[in-house]
Amino acid sequence: MPDSSVSVPAEVLKALQTHDRILIAAHANPDGDAVGASAALGWALRMLGRETLLYNETGFPDYLGWMRLPCPLLRDLSALPGKPGLIVALDSGDAGRLGEELQTLLKEVPVVNIDHHQGNPGYGSAANWVDPAMSATGEMVGHLAEALGLSLEGALAEAVYVALASDTGSFSYGNTRASTLRMAARLLEGGLDIASVRARLDNNWSESKLRLWGRLMSEARILDNGKLGVSIVSRALLRECGASREDAEGFVEQLRKIRGVRVALLLREEEREGSIMTKVSLRSSGADDVRKVAAQFGGGGHKNAAGATVDLPPEKTLTVIQPYIRHVWN
Ligand code: AMP
Ligand code: MN
Ligand code: MN
Repeated sequence: MPDSSVSVPAEVLKALQTHDRILIAAHANPDGDAVGASAALGWALRMLGRETLLYNETGFPDYLGWMRLPCPLLRDLSALPGKPGLIVALDSGDAGRLGEELQTLLKEVPVVNIDHHQGNPGYGSAANWVDPAMSATGEMVGHLAEALGLSLEGALAEAVYVALASDTGSFSYGNTRASTLRMAARLLEGGLDIASVRARLDNNWSESKLRLWGRLMSEARILDNGKLGVSIVSRALLRECGASREDAEGFVEQLRKIRGVRVALLLREEEREGSIMTKVSLRSSGADDVRKVAAQFGGGGHKNAAGATVDLPPEKTLTVIQPYIRHVWN
């Protein structure tokens, strides 16, 4: 039974019902919400007999490799058999996060924008559904599937669960609402095997990830009288641990666990076209707003979880970002 407290905009439903060959895209370097929302919408459309394509510029991460997908994932638009009739953009606070390659097509094909990031400018040319009160974009896709007459079951339910659990810290962050938990309840009523999904999500570490987290724990810096926790993931450290970039995912949450830490900051060194950049991840709790810090560097996100990419190496990034972080608690 759909949640009567939520209404899916009519223009979103209409766009999905009138166009065929629907290309589903989410932000590059996708997290569990981006992957879960993409897979869930793909399953929903497939259950309705619609022709669907799944695309992500950087592919889906290995740790979610066990998820069932409704169709093969495209990483390269040149593999597209002709132009899609509609693009549905998911979990992307701005069109740029969908990746360079999709930008031309976004101007040529009608776009439905479904997202929960505050500040999303509404770049969908066919329809926009932006609701920052939603815990996850996957929650919105769950409501959408139900509005289209589907029950949340099977692979669709698994994908919605991955999205919800990923963006709510397994139903523990402040974005967890009664309606989020009601949706989780409907997933269980639909037969979701929660223990089995959790085991696939949790008991899935590589040895190199364990070694990397050990190093990050021993080398973490606690600055600003205990209010700022910082970790730097250099490429050298990844090499020494035999770890991948993906293995550092989630470590920023460990820094937030330290008593007294109000802002957790993870700086990951990246090389792009020969220059060194830093992927910044910020976490906070309650009223402390780190989205404002990320926004100063062209990034975005949510009040308590935000990110950006900075055109400097990690140590320099720390120097320039620290004064902005101090505004969070001042
Ligand atoms: P992360 O630290 O990468 O897990 O991201 C935390 C939140 O910030 C997510 O909601 C992201 O959507 C958002 N975010 C991360 N990186 C960026 C970026 N470069 N630009 C805008 N938003 C971002
Ligand atoms: Mn996301
Ligand atoms: Mn999200």
